[in-house]
Amino acid sequence: MTAPAAKAPPAHAAMDQFPVRAGELLVGGIPLTRLAARVGRTPFYAYDRRLLEQRVAQLRSALPPSVKLHYAMKANPMPALVGHMARLVDGIDVASAGELQVALNAGAAAQEVSFAGPGKRDEELRQAVAAGILVNVESFRELPLLARAADALGVPARVAVRVNPDFELKSSGMKMGGGPKPFGVDAEQVPALLRAIADAGLAFEGFHLFAGSQNLKAEAIVEAQQKSFALALRLAEHAPAPVRTLNLGGGFGIPYFPGEQRLDLAPIGEALGAIVAEAATALPDARIVLELGRYLVGEAGVYVCRITDIKVSRGHTYLVTDGGLHHHLSASGNFGQVLRKNYPVAIGNRMAAPGGEAVSVVGPLCTPLDLIADRMALPAAEVGDLVVVFQSGAYGASASPQGFLGHPGVAEILI
Ligand SMILES: *Cc1c(COP(=O)(O)O)cnc(C)c1O
Repeated sequence: MTAPAAKAPPAHAAMDQFPVRAGELLVGGIPLTRLAARVGRTPFYAYDRRLLEQRVAQLRSALPPSVKLHYAMKANPMPALVGHMARLVDGIDVASAGELQVALNAGAAAQEVSFAGPGKRDEELRQAVAAGILVNVESFRELPLLARAADALGVPARVAVRVNPDFELKSSGMKMGGGPKPFGVDAEQVPALLRAIADAGLAFEGFHLFAGSQNLKAEAIVEAQQKSFALALRLAEHAPAPVRTLNLGGGFGIPYFPGEQRLDLAPIGEALGAIVAEAATALPDARIVLELGRYLVGEAGVYVCRITDIKVSRGHTYLVTDGGLHHHLSASGNFGQVLRKNYPVAIGNRMAAPGGEAVSVVGPLCTPLDLIADRMALPAAEVGDLVVVFQSGAYGASASPQGFLGHPGVAEILI
């Protein structure tokens, strides 16, 4: 009898969106060491334009052609990247007046910008009305403020209702709808909100439903979209005007951790086809919108830092780098993860070298939380080598506490 083969530990999804040449990772077609020289310092984030374009094209070919794609720019608000995305997608979703300015500066058409967020300030609502963008209303409190701004400025206040659905997005990394939530208005209260919108004389345009984030299961996304659509149909009976925009959210995830695989778009495209067909008769004026953040930009970016020291402590090797949680909180495991797991990490100038002993990659901060890779088999490295963290195009620089411990900030480039 032979013993059963030991089960291999789950591996990260292949990061083959970035080619390798002569042992070096190419980002934007440029070998990493040369790119680092071009940036002039480490650490930095690099985002690859061509990968952004490919991702949007791939989505468009998998989804019904009439479905509109919006970029939720909180995933990555770098102005040059937002400018590039604004040319590729059909609209930009912002979550603050600060993001609104970046979107408009980037060339986004105001007509195709929408604004969601649970605590919109009075001046933000006024700025939104002045800009002519669509406001996703999340509270009764917003209505008189919008009406006053519309009156004072002599322009319509365009609104959609953000609904807190009466269901949850299953198997989601981050649930953002269902049960008690600070986001949107509970579905049960929406008929009253719609009456108040009509009374306030606001320009009603539709509904926004966002059930959750970072989902890798197509069936769960399909189910949430179908339930969202059915809920929107029920709520539309109370609407003061035809539904022109139906934002079904997004939640498309990317593989970060060992054992995770890329989302299968085919079943989502198929199910959306059925929704689009039903909407053609049930909501004939409505365009269906998806809003995606990390799915559009996450896989197109890497974080690059340099090894500054190699320390061996009681037999365990630490690669100490100039980068860490102050630039990349999510890779350190401290941005919403329950159990810390490693992002895909490589030595970007030794891509052809065989994996060696399990080492840990840490940053310069004086806290055990500053961990980029925990016991990962990496090639034998030297001081000066470049550590690459993949899947870093979303929730990186802007989602990290750059002031923590007073180290230099991180550079960002779009190539
Ligand atoms: C954060 C957010 C998104 C983007 O989420 P991703 O997981 O990055 O796709 C989209 N819509 C709303 C309302 C959000 O709050």
